[in-house]
Amino acid sequence: MPVEVKPLGARRFLWRQRGQRTRKVIFGGLQTHDPQTHFAAVRSLHTSKGTIAVVATLTFEQARQCVLQNLCTAKIQPQVEIVGLSDAAGRVLAGPVVSDRDYPTLTRSVRDGFAVRAQDLPGDLFVIGEVRAGESFAGEIQPGEALEIMTGAPLPRGADSVVMVEHCTVAGDRVTIPRSLARGENVSPQASQARTNEVLLEAGHRLGFAEIALLAMVGSKTVPVFARPQIAILATGDEIVELNETPLDYQIRNSNVESLAVQVKRAGGCPNILPIARDLYQATRELTEHGLRFDMLLLSGGVSAGKYDIVERVLADLGAEFYFDRVLIMPGQPLVFGKARDKFFFGLPGNPASTMVTFEIFGRSAVELLGGQKEACLPLVWSKLSQDFRQKTGLTRFLPAVLSADGAQVSPMAWQGSGDVPSLTRANAFLVTEPGRESWTAGDWIRVLLK
Ligand code: AMP
Ligand code: MG
Repeated sequence: MPVEVKPLGARRFLWRQRGQRTRKVIFGGLQTHDPQTHFAAVRSLHTSKGTIAVVATLTFEQARQCVLQNLCTAKIQPQVEIVGLSDAAGRVLAGPVVSDRDYPTLTRSVRDGFAVRAQDLPGDLFVIGEVRAGESFAGEIQPGEALEIMTGAPLPRGADSVVMVEHCTVAGDRVTIPRSLARGENVSPQASQARTNEVLLEAGHRLGFAEIALLAMVGSKTVPVFARPQIAILATGDEIVELNETPLDYQIRNSNVESLAVQVKRAGGCPNILPIARDLYQATRELTEHGLRFDMLLLSGGVSAGKYDIVERVLADLGAEFYFDRVLIMPGQPLVFGKARDKFFFGLPGNPASTMVTFEIFGRSAVELLGGQKEACLPLVWSKLSQDFRQKTGLTRFLPAVLSADGAQVSPMAWQGSGDVPSLTRANAFLVTEPGRESWTAGDWIRVLLK
């Protein structure tokens, strides 16, 4: 069917199809000449002013690349805050961490044993004394001498190695060492970990326990961190009621904003839950406009093909650029990502599993990058299937699963589809399928996304 669609206003992509051939597609820096990989469905959006371009369908990998690329090319410059070291965990570093001195400051022993000259071994040496951690030995060892030394103590002058106490026989002031030793064995040389004024950590690094230890090591009592991005969360739907209301049989409590708030916090963002938008144009528009005043807007629901799914139309009327509005994944196919009023937004499908999964695989990285993180990754691990498994090809599926305690085995779970919240609580992971593969047998490797 010959179709030609020209976007109205500022659109980031150009889509044309004549006969069966797609000529050229550009969205957010992604470019292809292969229609098969990009288009599974064609949909046109209608603004109040007329028809606008069909928005693209992407594969999981393409959609992820599109999100990362758009976030990385946006000039994100969060404000800087100074926080105490004990409040810095989970925050993103806003300035470099510089080494205040050499680490180690002095060459020191990494074992309990005897400081020696390697060339004296094997041999029977005279013990001239001891040095404990937290002390410094004033003397110098001479040929044929050893100094008893504890882990962490500075190596005495004259010595070049440490022999472990387990390899020595001590009798009075003599120590017998029956083996030879390479020079420098069991010794950590001065400045081997860091030099004075060396940059040890760059801005954009998320601070975990090792990073907090590093900051403590160099004596930082306060830390410059980026302000948390403010993320608006807007649920849409006539059937949704607030938690303090009693739902009628045909109504549903607003659980998506709660799961999203947790996920946003986990990604380093600050969630701002807006009132529910009813499936009415004006109400949805006003709340969407309000949501676009935050650093990013997450909408839940209203992005499917139903008569009252009006989110895309509202966004289009607000001048949105759409980077994609469908991704070949399950759950969560009708997923919208774009920019309006200079703010990124995601229109997440409303079914709870779809909302959770799409945030986790796309939204989470966006929040991390908005928060000043230099990199956002989505680690998928590999495990072995505990049972045979089949799927219909075409989609990358994220299916609730149970990963064994040692991570060696993963089992798909029975579930009732993307509305099934109770099943999601029993899962600790999602199986991630390859879209082109139909079947797996027990013992086959498969990718896993941790919950
Ligand atoms: P939608 O994407 O708007 O078509 O919504 C699909 C389904 O997701 C709805 O029928 C609800 O069952 C569910 N849903 C939508 N929004 C929410 C929400 N905020 N909290 C919990 N479930 C929701
Ligand atoms: Mg809805």
